[in-house]
Amino acid sequence: MEIKTENLGKSYGKNWALQKVSFTIGGGITALLGPNGAGKTTLLNILATLVQPTHGHVSIGGLDIQHKRQEIRRLLGFLPQEFGLYDSLTAYEFLDYMGLLKGIEHRKQCVQQALEQVGLESYAKHRVGTFSGGMRQRLGLAQALLNKPPVLIVDEPTVGLDPAERTRFRQLLIQMGAAHTVILSTHLVEDVLLTAGRVITLNAGQIQYDGKVSEMVNMAQGKVWTARIAPSDLIIIQQKYIVTNLEANEGTFIVRFLSDRNPSIQAEQVSPTLEDAYLFITGKR
Ligand code: ATP
Repeated sequence: MEIKTENLGKSYGKNWALQKVSFTIGGGITALLGPNGAGKTTLLNILATLVQPTHGHVSIGGLDIQHKRQEIRRLLGFLPQEFGLYDSLTAYEFLDYMGLLKGIEHRKQCVQQALEQVGLESYAKHRVGTFSGGMRQRLGLAQALLNKPPVLIVDEPTVGLDPAERTRFRQLLIQMGAAHTVILSTHLVEDVLLTAGRVITLNAGQIQYDGKVSEMVNMAQGKVWTARIAPSDLIIIQQKYIVTNLEANEGTFIVRFLSDRNPSIQAEQVSPTLEDAYLFITGKR
């Protein structure tokens, strides 16, 4: 299902959280990648019809978000960054309650199906208060799936999960991407690399890259270098270049950094990673 934004802007007082945001996305997983404060949550909240843009247009499935709010809500499943769960309820009771609030018909069947989709069917009668972070996040995704929406919006879903839970949640998202249009916001390059086909990077409210994940690395082609340096030289390198990685090695440092031209120290050019490209695009030190 197509999601389209045109010249979208959102200001909070004098602060522009989003500016000139235009994109069109279709099926599969699109990652929205950006540092804290980039505007990801603001954008997702606008798409989820929870926040009004200051200007610009958004349409989902051809429906204009200003005029067709209720219809659009039926097309969406939303997993916000922070959401409340009722610890004293069982997983089944929680989803049943959410289904009631959402006015979902054939609730029993929808709850059962959502539990199966996120792999929690054998925990249906367990209290939410006993769940791990990953299970809570999967239950959050289950509530987003209750109304069988074609579009899923998930805001920083892997934050706070341990590596095993993060891997499991990513696999779940990939499964979802086969049948849904998924927008996933994250500040982790690894989330993008392991789940999404398309990436839109946001920084200070503006799009900096929009394209295939596989092509994003090309942005840093010819700009990544490594050098072995004395620890005392690190500060100079950090002041001059964006350092993307640092390893201690037998009393020296192996530093990986970005430079548009031949660096002033002896260094070897290397192939970029997605992380290098992301740091190049955002220009963050
Ligand atoms: P994070 O990952 O930290 O949530 P983000 O990329 O999701 O970051 P947003 O939460 O969308 O970024 O915030 C973008 C900018 O808008 C920030 O400068 C933030 O302080 C500001 N902002 C967001 N919501 C509000 C609000 N309700 N009132 C005022 N300013 C806000």
